[in-house]
Amino acid sequence: MNIQKINLVGLDKETMSKLLQPFCENGQVIKMRVSQLWDWIYTKGETDFNKMTNISKNFRNILVNNFLLNRLKIRKKLISEDGTKKYLLALDDGNLIETVFIPEKDRGTLCISSQVGCTLNCSFCFTGTQGLVRNLSGPEIVQQIMILRDDLQEWEKIRESKNKRRSISNIVLMGMGEPLYNFDEIKKGLMIIMDETGISISRKKITLSTSGVVPKIGLVGKEIGCLLAISFHATTDEVRNQLVPLNKKWNIDCLLNALRSYPGLSNSERITFEYVMIDNVNDTEEDARRLVKLISGIPSKINLIPFNPWPGSHYKTSGFDRINSFAEIIKSAGYSSPVRTPRGKDILAACGQLRSDSKKIKKSQRNV
Ligand code: SF4
Repeated sequence: MNIQKINLVGLDKETMSKLLQPFCENGQVIKMRVSQLWDWIYTKGETDFNKMTNISKNFRNILVNNFLLNRLKIRKKLISEDGTKKYLLALDDGNLIETVFIPEKDRGTLCISSQVGCTLNCSFCFTGTQGLVRNLSGPEIVQQIMILRDDLQEWEKIRESKNKRRSISNIVLMGMGEPLYNFDEIKKGLMIIMDETGISISRKKITLSTSGVVPKIGLVGKEIGCLLAISFHATTDEVRNQLVPLNKKWNIDCLLNALRSYPGLSNSERITFEYVMIDNVNDTEEDARRLVKLISGIPSKINLIPFNPWPGSHYKTSGFDRINSFAEIIKSAGYSSPVRTPRGKDILAACGQLRSDSKKIKKSQRNV
């Protein structure tokens, strides 16, 4: 009889306990086995049950016969001149997602996806042109980090010295998809990622970015506790309706009201407003002044992002002078306003572009 093996990577302790129940004598043994597996999987990154030396040979055989330690598969990896690494990852059902690693001087940020494609069609975003295929599961959220830790040989570094700087120090949910349209699975995944006995990335090093799904915003602070970023990009409803059509459902006023009551909001845990700078659309000095007024009273910083053009887009990046004067107005109102340096420009870094190119290639190969 062929047994359908279950992948343990990305599962939480409760689910693992239920799965181990038929193979353990009592609750205490289950607890011990879960804690051993947890340590091997999430702190050592082990991919072979037979190397789990503190587990008896008999039980290792049970694990080998019933379970798997799989990750997502790297379908393609592009490395930019500036060190940015962009991965096209294959899910078990063949769908593709993107994950990007951005190394910096004193840290490294991993930008992960929350959905395959996206339901929202923000007009400046390439992923928005692709439609939604499906939500990612909690384990698929976790496996994006697992496979990257494998590829960056991070497990070895962690084993050698817990205090040394890790390659992946920060996580941002800014890849493909709207995380708050997949809240339950994102929460499941992040709970595992934040668990101090495992992957252990602090909630303060994780930023979830939303385009403004107002009813779920408070839950991020209450139930996950990570930092929040808003894909904001405009200072009037008229312009935001064009750039982020979700604004027609929850407009700027409604969104800002939700942010004012965000749990745990303080100067040390500010909200980040992402603002993509698009030539002659949202980049005037008047916009900058309006932005300052709108966010007044909300502990925040504003990330200015020069628009990254993609094939077929009719937008252009704002000029250098425009971006600078915009940043100056924000800065003189007392807000931090870093201008994001474009990273990985040489490797199709616009979100969703690699997946789309790969799909086109697959289709053309089928047509040969
Ligand atoms: S910006 Fe985010 S929410 Fe908007 S279409 Fe792109 S992936 Fe979706």
